[in-house]
Amino acid sequence: MNATALTYNPTPAHFSLNARIFYSRIKQPSPTSETNARRPSSPLTATTHFLMDLRRRLPPKPPSATVLNHQKAVSNGENRSSSSTKTGLIDRSPSPVPKASDALPLPLYLTNGIFFTLFFSVAYYLLHRWRDKIRSSTPLHVVTLSELAAIVSLIASFIYLLGFFGIDFVQSFITTARSEEDSFVLEGEVEQHSEPKPRIMDPIPSLALASEEDEEIVKSVVCGSVPSYSLESKLGDCLRAASIRRQALERTTGRSLLGLPLEGLDYESILGQCCEMPVGYVQIPVGIAGPLLLNGCEYMVPMATTEGCLVASTNRGCKAIFASGGATAILLKDGMTRAPVVRFATAERASQLKFFLEDAINFDTLSVIFNKSSRFARLQNIQCSIAGKNLYIRFTCSTGDAMGMNMVSKGVQNVLDFLQNDFPDMDVIGISGNFCSDKKPAAVNWIEGRGKSVVCEAVITEDIVKKVLKTTVHGLVELNMLKNLTGSAIAGSLGGFNAHAANIVSAVFIATGQDPAQNIESSHCITMMEPVNNGKDLHISVTMPSIEVGTVGGGTQLASQSACLNLLGVKGASSESPGSNARLLASVVAGSVLAGELSLMSAIAAGQLVKSHMKYNRSNRDMAAIASSV
Ligand code: ADP
Repeated sequence: MNATALTYNPTPAHFSLNARIFYSRIKQPSPTSETNARRPSSPLTATTHFLMDLRRRLPPKPPSATVLNHQKAVSNGENRSSSSTKTGLIDRSPSPVPKASDALPLPLYLTNGIFFTLFFSVAYYLLHRWRDKIRSSTPLHVVTLSELAAIVSLIASFIYLLGFFGIDFVQSFITTARSEEDSFVLEGEVEQHSEPKPRIMDPIPSLALASEEDEEIVKSVVCGSVPSYSLESKLGDCLRAASIRRQALERTTGRSLLGLPLEGLDYESILGQCCEMPVGYVQIPVGIAGPLLLNGCEYMVPMATTEGCLVASTNRGCKAIFASGGATAILLKDGMTRAPVVRFATAERASQLKFFLEDAINFDTLSVIFNKSSRFARLQNIQCSIAGKNLYIRFTCSTGDAMGMNMVSKGVQNVLDFLQNDFPDMDVIGISGNFCSDKKPAAVNWIEGRGKSVVCEAVITEDIVKKVLKTTVHGLVELNMLKNLTGSAIAGSLGGFNAHAANIVSAVFIATGQDPAQNIESSHCITMMEPVNNGKDLHISVTMPSIEVGTVGGGTQLASQSACLNLLGVKGASSESPGSNARLLASVVAGSVLAGELSLMSAIAAGQLVKSHMKYNRSNRDMAAIASSV
């Protein structure tokens, strides 16, 4: 540890704090006050407090650079550990050790010299006088004025010298007592065992205890002798591991991570599940759109986004849907897919396996093998595609409330192991051959579906289109045809026949702990708008064939994401009907997309898009005022 960090350097601010403490004691000497009640009552500790008070009256020394750094960090609102990560040190500056000499008006060596000289010279003088009196037979109790003065001086200097050496002796006890007290403080007993002391920062006990050791580990990580990834397993403390990794990262890169929070996340909960080698977490605001009236129920939809206008716009869509009597969502399909690629020596052998897998007679056997992967995995379908002598086998299965990638992969592995008996010449190239197709735009998902396939519709009355959406049914229908259908066809879009489904899908995915990368296929959506009721009202629908969501596993179990799932009433596994929570979540995603499409399309139709973005994205104006004006 840096020596500077261990030196007590009171700053003017701290000195004034000391002064306040000192004067408050003078003003409030009542033994019943909390401060005094905590004071130890033994003479030894009373001496300590007296000496500490004296020490506090001394003028402050200028603060060291390290202390200034820490102070800056504190004034910036940082906590102890984040600033310690910046400096690489956790401040454990001891409180001042009081000295008896602090009370003397003259320098110590001068005072000592005076009293020593006085003591020995008067002793010498008195001995002389004593000898003279014995020789002259003068009674000893008959003393002159000078002898009396010499006796007083002898006693005074004796008391001083006894006091000096005696207090030094007592001092050694005090120091021991204080160091014991300090270690107690480090164990987190600050409140109970010490009176208010000036501290640069409040200690975080566990981190403070380990700081010197941590410093060594940081150095080892920086020089490469300890791998960064091994910190969690070596230390058994995930927060400490993240803190050390972060410090090492800042030192090796020379870049500050100031602004990236460290504390406030349960690092144990992400270990081996969600993120490796963490150094902090990113904050994303969560807004609420709703109520979304869907299938007769109201949902408040959490949306994690940094895009201004998005939540407000979706909220407006929800308002229009609500005022028109709500939306209806229908789940069309529910099945996660995985497609391994296997190779044979000939296309003929690959074809033989294709016929075997697609033969209904074999399906039951294969299902039993596949379903062993989980009590929630149920094989639904096997679809094959050939490219020469390579076979792509797309397995589809239901996965309960899990998004299901792990589950389906395990089932596929079971089947491949089984097939190896009858097709020993089958060469498994990869458990995923991209015919699945995960996290890539692919027609197979758009056509066949993946995860949950949902269609959601609503009829928005002419009145609401005018009053809430500030446009016309005709204008919306025309825009939808030319933008979402024709425009996307011109662009050669794959599943992108919508205005901004990905915006809503991503925001709800992040808030509820879904895999954001699956936004790619989950946002496949065709938005349809048609006039109904003699052309007066608007029928709007969104058809989304591959919404990939779960309410168990992955990021769904983290505290904040779990809270958002809870808000929607779909947290965790459904005990009554496994899979119903995930299916409901998919419906809410589709309903929210419907609201988002309705609002954005209306804004474009009314020529408001740029105007409202200027309001929400670029302006510093009060959001409440803006929202009320929509
Ligand atoms: P994924 O397959 O989406 O990656 P995980 O494998 O991480 O999900 O999580 C699924 C786990 O949750 C499985 O071990 C499964 O047994 C368990 N589980 C508990 N209840 C359910 C449920 N209702 N639906 C699906 N899985 C469940």
